[in-house]
Amino acid sequence: MSYDKNNVFAKILRGEIPCKKVFENKYVLSFHDINPKKKIHVLVIPKGEYTDLDHFHSEATEIEIVEFNKSVTRIVKMLKISSNENGYRMLSNIGHDGAQEVPHLHYHIFGGEKIGVLGG
Ligand code: 5GP
Repeated sequence: MSYDKNNVFAKILRGEIPCKKVFENKYVLSFHDINPKKKIHVLVIPKGEYTDLDHFHSEATEIEIVEFNKSVTRIVKMLKISSNENGYRMLSNIGHDGAQEVPHLHYHIFGGEKIGVLGG
């Protein structure tokens, strides 16, 4: 799938749509989901133009991949939901069957309450 520069996260990255920022560095932006499914529901996106995890892994640089993944641990520590605290769930919806709505790679981070079994 080619990257759609008009997707909502591309607009957030360009500052055309506001977001409630949690963390940002050269490679990554994290912000609260507009429609939180749990007490804490934040999104983490790479700043590069990648549609999903497979696209990212085939085209991103090593530093982009490392920074994106390491940012999760930074963010959950900031939110006080790391594995040293009560923990969290991280997931990425990918493609049609994965029910991905926004075609810019993102991790969802859920926490702040018991998440339960997948699908529960
Ligand atoms: P997906 O189904 O693609 O994995 O999830 C997309 C997520 O983006 C959804 O949880 C949805 O609530 C969130 N979202 C969609 N539009 C916006 C927006 O404009 N701002 C923020 N902060 N989140 C959004």
